[in-house]
Amino acid sequence: MDLKSHIRDIPDFPQPGILFRDITPLLANPTSMQYSIDLFAQQVAALQPDYIVGIESRGFMFGMPLAYKLGVGFAPVRKPGKLPAAVHSATYALEYGNDTLELHQDAFPAGSRVLIIDDLIATGGTAAATAALVTQTGSTVAGFGFVIELVALQGRAKLPEAPVTVLLQY
Ligand code: AMP
Repeated sequence: MDLKSHIRDIPDFPQPGILFRDITPLLANPTSMQYSIDLFAQQVAALQPDYIVGIESRGFMFGMPLAYKLGVGFAPVRKPGKLPAAVHSATYALEYGNDTLELHQDAFPAGSRVLIIDDLIATGGTAAATAALVTQTGSTVAGFGFVIELVALQGRAKLPEAPVTVLLQY
């Protein structure tokens, strides 16, 4: 299936100069939605994670169904002030602006193998900060998975050593 035909390009969102790769058409079509989750699950199964972490908010949309398919637990990485229990925090640079992410300190037992999922890797700052949060819990990053990689931004170079799975490259 041509998954790219289900990605919509929105120029100058959320600010001038950014070409936003919109995954909502991919999710709205049941065939492309199921196909993308099934393909994603096939490609990351060999990593044998104990947990999946999804990054707010589009990482939830792919991370949760993947966790369900792989039969592993899920933990959300969220924007500041959203998680109710004690958190670890990490601040990072985004393609547009700065932000902080948080993860519950007890999201998974120390020593877990954690697969980090988001819809898209641009500069890699978001995923690298999430990896730092996973490490702070005493767990290991088993890998990273993204629906889309913006190759020219070289986000992979910012990630710690771990397998990276992507479904689409631009
Ligand atoms: P980065 O930290 O630069 O890798 O940015 C990745 C995060 O920002 C992901 O959570 C994406 O959802 C979002 N993002 C960054 N650039 C884009 C883009 N061009 N289109 C859609 N989402 C983007």
